[in-house]
Amino acid sequence: MLEKLKQLFTPKQCAICKQKPQEPRPYYNDQGEKVLVCQKCVPYAERRAMRRV
Ligand SMILES: [Zn+2]
Repeated sequence: MLEKLKQLFTPKQCAICKQKPQEPRPYYNDQGEKVLVCQKCVPYAERRAMRRV
């Protein structure tokens, strides 16, 4: 429970593929929340017009 809450505030996984991100980059998702996107999903994030932090 606590772990889950913590994860909500400090996402440690890629927002797109849900894997442990390699060289993650911060982006804002549709809700304006800071999320991490791993390098291989960056093109996908760009296509979805996610804003870079
Ligand atoms: Zn990814």
